Amino acid sequence: MQSTNEDLRDLAGFDHQAKEIADFLLSCKKITVVGHIDADGITATSIAYKALQEQRLNVNFNFIKKIDENEIKRINKLDSDGVLLVDLGSGYASKLDHPGLCIADHHEVDPGGHPSSKRKGQVSLLDFESAKGRHLNPHLFGFDGSKELSGAGAAYSIAKAMDGRNRTLAHLAIVGAVGDFQDSSECRLMGLNRRILDDAETIGSVRASHDVRYFGRESRPLVNFLKYSSDPRLPRLTNEEEMCYEFLREQGIPLKEDGRWRCWVDLRPDEKERIVTILTQILVGSGTADGASRLMGEVYSLIREEPRTVMHDAKEFATLLNSCGRYEKAPTGLEVCIKGPHLKRERENALRNLQNHRDNLKGAIEMVRGKERIVLGSVQYLRNGDGTFCLPVEDTVIGIVAGMLLGSGDIPCDRPLLAFAVSVDDNNIEMTKASARGTKELVERGLDLSSAMRRASESVGGTGGGHNIAAGATIPPGKEADFLAEIDRIVSAQMG
Ligand code: C5P
Ligand code: C5P
Ligand code: ZN
Repeated sequence: MQSTNEDLRDLAGFDHQAKEIADFLLSCKKITVVGHIDADGITATSIAYKALQEQRLNVNFNFIKKIDENEIKRINKLDSDGVLLVDLGSGYASKLDHPGLCIADHHEVDPGGHPSSKRKGQVSLLDFESAKGRHLNPHLFGFDGSKELSGAGAAYSIAKAMDGRNRTLAHLAIVGAVGDFQDSSECRLMGLNRRILDDAETIGSVRASHDVRYFGRESRPLVNFLKYSSDPRLPRLTNEEEMCYEFLREQGIPLKEDGRWRCWVDLRPDEKERIVTILTQILVGSGTADGASRLMGEVYSLIREEPRTVMHDAKEFATLLNSCGRYEKAPTGLEVCIKGPHLKRERENALRNLQNHRDNLKGAIEMVRGKERIVLGSVQYLRNGDGTFCLPVEDTVIGIVAGMLLGSGDIPCDRPLLAFAVSVDDNNIEMTKASARGTKELVERGLDLSSAMRRASESVGGTGGGHNIAAGATIPPGKEADFLAEIDRIVSAQMG
């Protein structure tokens, strides 16, 4: 079952709500923007902050890793007369009661006080009332927040309603959407995201083109570009460095030019065509016709940025932002997005963070591959050899690792994958963070990880939420086994 129902789509209602929120914010004296620390959250915060600054409003921002009871208390007590939550908040709307609260989010909405009116995957207008006023979320208007609009897209919709000139921020909403993998199920952006893409293309900040979808078109040397291919995996090439060298040599593709490593964007059209033809043959020949159809897709270039840098490709830009935010450096990412006064210094910092993030992910994937995979009825999870649950990976990165592993072909993707890490909260209390990742096919069969993670975590005294295809939770340590039993039960019921 899908959460999109064409008949329920209300574009005019969505736009009206964006305008109401924009007008409210314009009437405020002091506004605090609170954003999530990942690429979508950083771009969402950047859009909101920049748009409000342009209106000469008194605005500040802060980033948070996740919403929990402590954060809710803190947000409710903020002394600004306007509070704008971006890329977070919808899941907890009924607990947030700051009088100046506005939410621009795309996560599944808190069923709040009206659980009976929340049918699976749909939120009725009644829930919307209960979600309290100034709340902009695609799910509330019949759109699918896991692929049709990101948190940055929701923030952008408000910015544009505030002032049409804010179309200059559209490229950041594209980075946010791509950072949340919203282009991944259909190999292109969909729904409300396309409207934003139109804006960006109209003003000439983004160019969408049809190309190979692998990560690193602008900045990864060719051998690595092929070696780290994962969606789709390339038989004989993925993870096989020597074979990738050999393959490129056989195809007569020089690896270097003017003393520097060539990247995918450096190839001449005839070179690209040759490689695409052969890769397609390899995929079709190995029986992965679906893989062949995912090789190419729409990719997004930020054409005002310097070519052949990570800032020139939306996907690479998003990874740069993740490499800041997920290691407590979200403001560095914001500075790069809004081209603030310390741009040069912060861009260098961001590039260093990126190297660290890449090394960290490589290490984490290697380590996680060596862990035990336990298969329950309807879910699978990873644990340490000694039977403990929390893997030695940062809680902010465990979800990325789980997603990469599920997509890698190394493990079966016939059921969602869960992984755990230690998470230390603001009061220095150790909790267990759980991340879950599914696939498009599982979602089509009924999987809704957001509601499963929420309900299973609440049953053991934790909190959780997210999207149907990717969700997270925080639970008390020691409750992992109970939590797993519950989530297995819920997912079994969802998938019939
Ligand atoms: O907090 P937020 O909504 O930004 O996080 C979305 C998460 O969902 C991202 O970590 C992204 O990797 C994951 N996702 C995914 N596959 C999709 C859509 C989202 O793994 N098709
Ligand atoms: O942290 P992770 O990448 O696994 O998060 C996946 C999705 O679940 C994100 O959209 C995140 O915002 C959401 N999440 C949540 N509540 C939590 C943890 C994660 O809503 N306690
Ligand atoms: Zn998001």
